Amino acid sequence: MTRKYIDCREIPSDSSCTVAIAADNDEELLEAAVQHAVAVHGHEDTPQFRQQIRQAFRTGSPPS
Ligand SMILES: [Zn+2]
Repeated sequence: MTRKYIDCREIPSDSSCTVAIAADNDEELLEAAVQHAVAVHGHEDTPQFRQQIRQAFRTGSPPS
């Protein structure tokens, strides 16, 4: 299975967060990313926001 990640620096937010989250499937990654966005950035968990997060998924491992 292809590893995917999301880099918080690519998501528009009010803080200069540099967290990257990686997972082996889309659903795990989406849940982790949504939880991070809600807890840390105060985003609302909406279908539109989840779509925005999905579009920021990248394949591979986070760059060091
Ligand atoms: Zn963040």
